[in-house]
Amino acid sequence: MPATPAWPPSSLPRLYVEHQIAPGAELMLQGAQAHYLIAVMRLGSGAQVKLFDDRSGEWLAQISDAGKKRVSLRILQLLRAREPVPDLWLLFAPIKRGRIDLVVEKATELGVARLIPVLTQRTIVDRTNSDRLLAHMIEAAEQCERTALPELAQPQKLRPLLDDWPEERALLFADESGGEPLLQTASPGPAAILIGPEGGFTDEERSAICALPQARPISLGPRILRAETAAIAGVALWMAAAGDWRRAPVR
Ligand code: SAM
Repeated sequence: MPATPAWPPSSLPRLYVEHQIAPGAELMLQGAQAHYLIAVMRLGSGAQVKLFDDRSGEWLAQISDAGKKRVSLRILQLLRAREPVPDLWLLFAPIKRGRIDLVVEKATELGVARLIPVLTQRTIVDRTNSDRLLAHMIEAAEQCERTALPELAQPQKLRPLLDDWPEERALLFADESGGEPLLQTASPGPAAILIGPEGGFTDEERSAICALPQARPISLGPRILRAETAAIAGVALWMAAAGDWRRAPVR
């Protein structure tokens, strides 16, 4: 007996929309999203699409009108509510294009709640292109069936960030010069992982971080990892130890 095919088919195109989705609403997609549905996926009136808005969840929609540059969709029904997101922040010194894109893409797939680029003394790249990073985060969420997007903060300097550090949030400071193994020290959120620049933290910064009562130096093993690898490994370990990896996938 062939298995009952999943409904709606998981192969349906899936798009993030900025505006809040409501039952029975009509919404219009233009530009790249319209081009994607019409020219790339070759869809027309009557075709179904999955939409999510990072607030109300994932919805089934149907194309009601398709033009060259714009597509009208009618919302049919809610497929699933916005997923719960573990309370983990990722703080990372900005690194070069391509590699920073990888960090935000993978952090989105892994389920980080908030991303904060942190400017440290040895940070080489002192600006980030938020629009490009957000585009990478949205694409990752669309492809990985996420219903939630991490919040992307503007870059912040390390010292003021430490000065205003929230009392209840643990700061797991990835220190290549040594610390507790993350698996042994990770506890459920609120938590944050801090990853340094290619040049590492200065001793002065290390002392300022360790002076914070919420801070704990953590080790990601005996080998020096590149910053993007350290970010991905750190988040994955935390999700396994203290996040929601023990929970079955939500589909
Ligand atoms: N320049 C530094 C050095 O040579 O010691 C290495 C910096 S590493 C490329 C970039 C950042 O990744 C570090 O600041 C740290 O936050 C993190 N990192 C890399 N390997 C790590 C490890 N084994 N344990 C903890 N953190 C690590």
